[in-house]
Amino acid sequence: MNATSGPGLIEPIAAAGLVLADIHHAFGRNTVLKGVDLSVAPGEIVCLLGPSGCGKTTLLRLAAGLETLQQGRIALSGRLVSTPAETLPPEDRRVGLMFQDFALFPHLTVLDNVAFGLRGHSAEIKRQTARALLQRVGLAGVANAYPHLLSGGEQQRVALVRALAPQPQVMLLDEPFSGLDARLRDQVRDQTLAILKEQGVATLLVTHDAEEALLMADRIALMEAGQLSQTGPAEELYFRPLSPFVAGFFGELNRLEGKASNGSVETPFGRLPCPGIADGRGVQILIRSEGFNATEKDKGVPTRVERVRFLGPINLVEARLSQGTTFRARLRPGQALNVGQPLWLTLDPRYSFVFPS
Ligand code: ATP
Repeated sequence: MNATSGPGLIEPIAAAGLVLADIHHAFGRNTVLKGVDLSVAPGEIVCLLGPSGCGKTTLLRLAAGLETLQQGRIALSGRLVSTPAETLPPEDRRVGLMFQDFALFPHLTVLDNVAFGLRGHSAEIKRQTARALLQRVGLAGVANAYPHLLSGGEQQRVALVRALAPQPQVMLLDEPFSGLDARLRDQVRDQTLAILKEQGVATLLVTHDAEEALLMADRIALMEAGQLSQTGPAEELYFRPLSPFVAGFFGELNRLEGKASNGSVETPFGRLPCPGIADGRGVQILIRSEGFNATEKDKGVPTRVERVRFLGPINLVEARLSQGTTFRARLRPGQALNVGQPLWLTLDPRYSFVFPS
């Protein structure tokens, strides 16, 4: 591994927040990070999203100083903290950490766990600050309890509060809400989001849950096999994916094949644009299942209902075209849908994407 980095690093390294530049990492022969560049500005929440094993946790551990950097540079709050030659130990980085295997100090009460990381204040001020934070997230009632008396979810929330208490400029969170049930998760996410925004913290949050990333992130960095596939605001990744992988990460897709001609491709739902793809070249057409609308008789493409599943806010419908292709469409419940009945569908082209095959 070489320790040099390309030009252009001086500028981002000088930036506040978190800067990861040209990061490569291997475990033995297994190269798990292949040139990652990512920065998080103060007050920004970036969600690092990707399938299991793509390298998310390794990147976070490198940022935290828990893993030795092999290639690249890492800066925190405008200060270079890691090169392959030199590294600042985790405890001196002043970052808030919350990892999957969070551990509370078993011999300290909840209040003292939270107060522990607060430096440079009197014991009384530390406890007051800790108490106020616990109150804010609805945990004031367990302030004097020891961790083993708390549920897993409560312990996780205490660990979050403990990480936030010292008001770090950078927070690194690895699946911080994974152990919480759905209702509590929403609530804790909202509370965490509010505190992070209020404190102007640069936050890098690892998740494999696309919905969580959509909900939390100012920007999403989507990772595939050790490389960032696309980084940007949620809507950009959802509506303007740069690859089939990115398109497929945010929901179910219908897949068709076609041939480009004159910058577009014929589909059962009309021609879709595919600018820049040469005439005659094979293309794959990806259509989000939520891209369809049911319309009046003869006003859309005729299909026949093959299957309907009620999913609460939407119906998941399998509809067959006369030429035999079946589509999955997520439709708002409105009309009653029965298997075998005709159904006319239109497609909102914003939910369709064409890539070279
Ligand atoms: P998950 O979402 O499942 O936590 P991830 O995207 O966070 O996955 P990593 O934990 O970064 O992925 O792992 C990336 C790859 O590196 C995996 O193949 C993993 O097996 C491997 N790996 C991670 N840590 C080590 C280690 N300490 N020693 C050897 N291989 C490791």
